[in-house]
Amino acid sequence: MDGYVRSKIVCTIGPASRRPDILKEMAAAGMDVARVNLSHGSFDDHRKTIRAIRSLGNVAILVDLPGPKIRIGELKEPVQLKQGDSVRFTTENVVGEGLTLPVNYDRLPAEVRPGGHIFINDGLIELDIIKVDADFKGFEAKVVSGGEASSHKGVNVPGASLSIHPPTEQDVKGIEFGVQVGADWFAASFIRSKKDVEAVKQAINEADGDQPVISKIEHGEAITNIDEIIDASDGVMVARGDLGIEVPPWDIPLLQKKIITKCYEIGRPVIVATQMLESMVENPRPTRAEASDVANAILDGADAVMLSEETATGAHPIEAVRVMENISRVVESGGALRKAQRPREGQPIPEIIGSLASQAVESVKPAAIFTVTRSGFTTLMVSKYRPSARILAVVREAKISRRTRLYWGVEPLDVQWSDDRDELIIRAVNRALKDGVIREPDIIMIVSGSTLEAPGRTSTLEILRVRDILYHAGRKD
Ligand code: PEP
Repeated sequence: MDGYVRSKIVCTIGPASRRPDILKEMAAAGMDVARVNLSHGSFDDHRKTIRAIRSLGNVAILVDLPGPKIRIGELKEPVQLKQGDSVRFTTENVVGEGLTLPVNYDRLPAEVRPGGHIFINDGLIELDIIKVDADFKGFEAKVVSGGEASSHKGVNVPGASLSIHPPTEQDVKGIEFGVQVGADWFAASFIRSKKDVEAVKQAINEADGDQPVISKIEHGEAITNIDEIIDASDGVMVARGDLGIEVPPWDIPLLQKKIITKCYEIGRPVIVATQMLESMVENPRPTRAEASDVANAILDGADAVMLSEETATGAHPIEAVRVMENISRVVESGGALRKAQRPREGQPIPEIIGSLASQAVESVKPAAIFTVTRSGFTTLMVSKYRPSARILAVVREAKISRRTRLYWGVEPLDVQWSDDRDELIIRAVNRALKDGVIREPDIIMIVSGSTLEAPGRTSTLEILRVRDILYHAGRKD
């Protein structure tokens, strides 16, 4: 390996990181994708943050939609819930006081059952549901495991089949905002089925957007429907925060591996998220267990690892990115990365070409694989087969170029597009030479469409000497 880091780093931007100078250092430290979480803050603040991220060049922007997250309403003051306390949840529009907690979802009493469990504040407080009001305006629950409840804390009801689905009204506003500010990706929270993914995509379409959708897997039903969700999505996030409340935390490691494997097999980028370097919210160094967690996600085959509070509100946002980059570099150079399987008989041609490129790299040892693509699909097909050479994306539109920053091993190349394929490759080679990515004595590989086929198909794998390309370019001048 060449010291270039293949695994991608997604950083959640918040009060600790939205200053332009900090963002700049985070980008220099290895941030590939900036996540703007619409669950917190105002559109005005997000607009400013997005402007600052845009000025960094081609860091991709992932706008994360809140989804149907149930939350505690306004409380007069935080309340300490103790084991055995009897708590009243209400959907009435009141300020909570004492053991009365308002919730923001009107249908909740009708959709929970006595005997079920309810969790507050990231799963820290657990209650048993005892009795639902006859008029379905509230319910009673007994505290099993206590803690502090305060305004707007998240509520989870594992096992309840809620009738609210994404996109919510708030999501639709978020989508309109994201389209307006030019988000590169949307992440959709609490996806439970293929229908949810399609509904989010339709809302993006209705807002005149064409952004790809990352489905956040954080609900028990999503696990049941995982195949159809992955298939319908453009990417997936293993959102371990809520997922670890909806299912027991000890189920997470194997679920993570299972989801990554499925994404890996069908070629969808997958992000592993939440609590990856949690102790760095306060400390300048991670725990050994955290370093192992990031390493294992990479070894499992994740495209990207994500920082949440560490960069949003933590004391060491830049250092957290550096640590993640260092872990990725060391793990990747250890040579134990997962290899995608070879395509089965009858797989589409782009799969075969992507796989052939990866196999050829082992004999050719090219300086880089140039992927020529309009939609990013060719680049994704090459990334899917995890070649050991770096993958360069030569793309027509800047927005597609930024999207490819989430794909494992891919670096977009800043080249002015030409419909003349040879001319485009000459420009790309010159750019890569100038950037120091390749040198004149090198061999490179090119994956692209063919002039004998309709544009947009991946059908050609070439192995060429840089010198010969330059010689040819000289003759053309
Ligand atoms: C999660 O729950 O792990 C997650 C990433 O979602 P959010 O941060 O939006 O709660």
